[in-house]
Amino acid sequence: MKTAKRIHYSNSTRTQKEYIESRISAELGCCQSMLVSDALAKDFFGYDDIQNEYEKWEFSHGGECSVCHRADVTELNDNDICSECYEQDQRPQEIFEWWPINSSFLVKELLEIGEPVLSNDYGDWWGRTCTGQSISLDPTFWTIFQDGVVGVK
Ligand SMILES: [Zn+2]
Repeated sequence: MKTAKRIHYSNSTRTQKEYIESRISAELGCCQSMLVSDALAKDFFGYDDIQNEYEKWEFSHGGECSVCHRADVTELNDNDICSECYEQDQRPQEIFEWWPINSSFLVKELLEIGEPVLSNDYGDWWGRTCTGQSISLDPTFWTIFQDGVVGVK
């Protein structure tokens, strides 16, 4: 069985890009990085309310771990690190921007693919780990709306 190639910004049509851009503007509000960063810094928002603050370890292949150099490890991630070494050296994902999320659908989908989400009584925010480019260039929305994008020509 042949699986279809995933569609991202680089291999999409103009209509597909427009579709993703329309999803982004419907699902997210205006960037509130300053507001959320200051609320966190002043303990008005809690870091405990950030889900997926740490990146998930994901299985990629077997081989030698690049950290502990055990050769008999069968499960390594993309960077040749075994799950034990990964957990010992875990650092929070670097969040550059905070975007308010408009729907519970998007909250669920972002959490499922390991993206940081801050949720409290005031709302839900996506912690974007990229910056300096349009969100439509990030893989995030292409992954979440892949089914929709395939249907657009
Ligand atoms: Zn290791």
